[in-house]
Amino acid sequence: MNRDLAFSSAIGSSDLIKCKNCSFRGPQMDYPLKVNGLDYVKTCCDCTKKAVEHNAKSRARKKEKEGTHALQLAKKPSSTKHSDALPWPTLARKLARARNGACDLDVFLDLDPSHPTADVAKTQNERAAALVMDIRRETSYSFNYQEKMQLAGQASSIEYYCAQRNGTQTKPKIYAEDPDFQRDRDYMSRFTCGGSLRITINDAEPLRPRVEIVHKNHHIPWVDISPSEGIKAYIIENKVLGPARLWKEIQRKWPETEMEEAQVYNHWGKASEAIGSWMGTR
Ligand SMILES: [Zn+2]
Ligand SMILES: [Zn+2]
Repeated sequence: MNRDLAFSSAIGSSDLIKCKNCSFRGPQMDYPLKVNGLDYVKTCCDCTKKAVEHNAKSRARKKEKEGTHALQLAKKPSSTKHSDALPWPTLARKLARARNGACDLDVFLDLDPSHPTADVAKTQNERAAALVMDIRRETSYSFNYQEKMQLAGQASSIEYYCAQRNGTQTKPKIYAEDPDFQRDRDYMSRFTCGGSLRITINDAEPLRPRVEIVHKNHHIPWVDISPSEGIKAYIIENKVLGPARLWKEIQRKWPETEMEEAQVYNHWGKASEAIGSWMGTR
């Protein structure tokens, strides 16, 4: 190196110090000072600079790794505060507001030990389903099961989607094969509510389920659009009217019904079959 040559001509080679890391030799004053300013480091300027950069990089990597780890922890139920757990009536009031607006909640519940969701003898799916029914009562939205995720420990998250959310028409196979179910469901109105509900059940803390619910905008309440018992009875008693006339009568008598004409035909067909025959047809 040039430095090597420059100094070796001016100072005796015995005054030159070899870098601990490379072949550089130079006078002590050519070495960087330690942070305390009282001594020199044992590696040359180049090697020290490289080492400092390397350490800074690995510190940054470590920090980044810890950061994502902290983020992962934040997703786990254990890191959310249990002290803020709400009794059901408080959550119910918050949920009821979702009937007229958006809803975005992430809360722990403080359950009464008699609540079915607190019953550890039941499966986690059953316990979550009991809460889904409560939530349906308050929000007037129905939520369909999507998937269950096993979490650390004895906890699992069970996810549901709003039954009227669009893009959720895929039916479980068992129902897809049932034409009645399909006919009834296919006429349900769909909305861009993005409605989803996640219930986290932790066996270690059965009284503290976590409820996360997102419902971006309100829409008409979910109704079981299979016809009411009253309409079914009417169809059976008046099947002689024929489906077209029945449909008109039903619309007049039950103007609120979400039933569709095709459903009337379907139920009229079943009513006719049940009795045996109608005008010679089955
Ligand atoms: Zn060096
Ligand atoms: Zn919805």
